[in-house]
Amino acid sequence: MEHKNTWQTVDFTDIFPNRRRNLIVGMSFPRNDGNLGLEPSILSVLPPGENVIYCEDNRDFNDDDVMCYLCSVYIAGVEEFKEWAQRHDKNKIIVGGYHPTSFPEGFKNDAYKIVQGPCDNIYDTVKQPGQIVSGISTYKNAPRYDLYDITKNQQIIPDKQVDDICTSINTSIGCPYKCDFCCSPVMCPKLVSKPLELVKNEVAILQTYDRS
Ligand code: SF4
Repeated sequence: MEHKNTWQTVDFTDIFPNRRRNLIVGMSFPRNDGNLGLEPSILSVLPPGENVIYCEDNRDFNDDDVMCYLCSVYIAGVEEFKEWAQRHDKNKIIVGGYHPTSFPEGFKNDAYKIVQGPCDNIYDTVKQPGQIVSGISTYKNAPRYDLYDITKNQQIIPDKQVDDICTSINTSIGCPYKCDFCCSPVMCPKLVSKPLELVKNEVAILQTYDRS
């Protein structure tokens, strides 16, 4: 009888057919701090789709499973981001947020694209030529609250009860003034109001989390 190694008949690519690939991973640097109780701004950038996740602990990923990493970097998270980026494929990393907007040159060795300013259309934003690009906003999609547990939001609100869920809706972005200590005009130097329909949609989405 002819001996046949069993591994010869195994297609290793089919062992994990349900394993998710082509992930779009949203991350915030510094990593999410539940004690601060604020929803991460990257939720407004993440596109629709079931392959999209928000990673709270900034863990390492297998680059083969990931289409791109969307990384929001605040000034206090720059070192954490750079250490994480060294362990991942630079060509899959897209950075944005306050620090990359203010100092894009400092991210050239760590990211494929550096996005300046607000953005909610990541696909058209990334298609633009050059490594440093301006964020494109359409104001058509609500933040991806479905990827984040908003019950973790614990802003200090007078009369807030333990079981109350507190969150906020940004009805506008940017500011035309230039107070030295504030980064709002850095992200967007003019006041832009969101369309009323989008605000209503966001309210309706948040009402679905009502625990009463
Ligand atoms: S948002 Fe910032 S820049 Fe604008 S008025 Fe307030 S503190 Fe000043």
